[in-house]
Amino acid sequence: MNTNAVIAIHGGAGTILRASMSASAEADYHAALNAVLSAGQRVLADGGSALDAVSEAVRLLEDCPLFNAGRGAVYTAAGTHELDAAIMDGSTLDAGAICCVTRVRNPILAARRVLERSEHVLFTGAGAEAFAAAQGLEFVEPEYFHTEARHRQWQLARGQQRAMLDHDGATLASTSSSNDDDPTPHEPIDPNRKFGTVGAVALDQHGHVAAATSTGGVTNKQVGRVGDTPLIGAGCYADDATCAVSTTGSGEMFMRMVAAYDVAAQMAYRNVSLEEAAHDVVMNRLPKIDGRGGLIAVDARGNVTLPFNTEGMYRGFARIGETPVTAIYR
Ligand code: ASP
Repeated sequence: MNTNAVIAIHGGAGTILRASMSASAEADYHAALNAVLSAGQRVLADGGSALDAVSEAVRLLEDCPLFNAGRGAVYTAAGTHELDAAIMDGSTLDAGAICCVTRVRNPILAARRVLERSEHVLFTGAGAEAFAAAQGLEFVEPEYFHTEARHRQWQLARGQQRAMLDHDGATLASTSSSNDDDPTPHEPIDPNRKFGTVGAVALDQHGHVAAATSTGGVTNKQVGRVGDTPLIGAGCYADDATCAVSTTGSGEMFMRMVAAYDVAAQMAYRNVSLEEAAHDVVMNRLPKIDGRGGLIAVDARGNVTLPFNTEGMYRGFARIGETPVTAIYR
């Protein structure tokens, strides 16, 4: 029995400033993170698998409208929702993922079914939904994913993008002050503000690790765009021999860096600790290509690390029998 069993979760990274968050919003985030950690902790305490703990944690995060996954997902440029998710079992290296689904209530459950009941690893769009339907998973109308806050965010992003077609951000910023008749905010979209995504990693009492990640993607993304989240090795990776990793941030850069796998690879090939490998990916390698965000990771010894290179990342971890720890800012 491994007595270091632990679960860690994230609810996305980005420009999360203390100054722009009300005390009650902050309390809501801490409460949500605590509730999810407690649920994951219970699975582990009952002797459940890391795979069960991460699917349950991510399912709950998908159902919580505070986070950009499942209900509360961001909008595409067409005003729709396209959801991506992946899950991986470190004991077998089995993996399952789906992307661009629009009506599956819990994308992570669909990814789990792919892992368990399909010879394939990744399904997209209509095929993913047909697979989920055949598996008897719950479907919802697209409005289920709607929240006022994300809709407002999308409208702002849309307006900004239209303005940015003709001008670069610097020009816009300087012209905005000289044109008092135009009330449109002229700052370019801050790419740091667009991140979301949820994820979980765990080590169970049997010594196995697992990882799961789920997202609505980035606000105002083009229809059909897929980020790092459902790509094994980019947004999600797990191997008992090294670690389990779930990422959040500018997906294109995490894909180009094969970020999640790079943490495991550095441990295996450079023989460095979990902490050192994760730190190198987030603080050194990703910034070289302007990659912003963070990741959560656990190894088979129960070490946990939650590095991020943005102002904040909704995050937390819980060990069996201990009070969960949650945090938002640096
Ligand atoms: N990585 C996700 C994506 O690119 C977004 C995020 O983490 O916020 O789809």
